[in-house]
Amino acid sequence: MSKYFFILLVFLTGCSGLEESERSRLRKMNAKGEFIYRSAEEKSYVTAPPEKRERASYPWEEGLVAGQFKITKDFFRCRGSLRSEPLVSQTGEHLFDCGGGEQHSLPLKEGKEFIHPVLPELLNYIQESTGKKVVITCGHRCPTHNAFCDATPFNRTSKHMIGAEVDFYVEGMEYKPEVVVDLIMEYYQKRSPHKEDEAFNTFSRWNSPSNVSIPPWYNKEIFIKIYQVSEGRDLDNDHGKPYLAIQLRWDSTTSAPVTYTWS
Ligand SMILES: [Zn+2]
Repeated sequence: MSKYFFILLVFLTGCSGLEESERSRLRKMNAKGEFIYRSAEEKSYVTAPPEKRERASYPWEEGLVAGQFKITKDFFRCRGSLRSEPLVSQTGEHLFDCGGGEQHSLPLKEGKEFIHPVLPELLNYIQESTGKKVVITCGHRCPTHNAFCDATPFNRTSKHMIGAEVDFYVEGMEYKPEVVVDLIMEYYQKRSPHKEDEAFNTFSRWNSPSNVSIPPWYNKEIFIKIYQVSEGRDLDNDHGKPYLAIQLRWDSTTSAPVTYTWS
């Protein structure tokens, strides 16, 4: 048996050897030579030695402020989701969530998406001063998502619907919201275009009843609230941390109060 196997092996390897030599014979037979013509002045091209260069920044790295992404109006997109289970309100009405910022735009002003610019400006000031990330838990809310989050009458006039309110916390400073309030006030003393105006650089406390236990602060332009762990919980703010809310009272660009009424 082993003898036959040996013969078969010799036969096979012999065949492949023959094939190879035949192939090389044919290649030589068909090969053609060609002259390469060069000009007398021809020189070899010398490449410059490689130099180390700093890597160019990626587009998303350019907008970094104190190591954090610069907050733009895109950060305010509605957080509704079609994956949310429908809710039944106290009146027995079925409430559905919206499809979020991928399904609809921000509020429109003169045909363009709009968030009151002082809101991202304030949040960027906080990031710049602390080097910490501002997490927006609720920026714009379309009426559908607003009702889905909180169907109480108090919430029907929420300024989140017109891009004039933001809820947020600062990562690493979640339990020091008062420090963040101080920074907001500092913005009005150091950076705001109205820093010389007492109506802007001085804050008062709101002592009338409200839905928070710490009396809110306000100046002519904004209203600041701190929601403690047991307060202001809704679908967008179910994170279990204290958070801040800034609401616009006065639109400096149009010199008019910011109001939203529901009827
Ligand atoms: Zn929405």
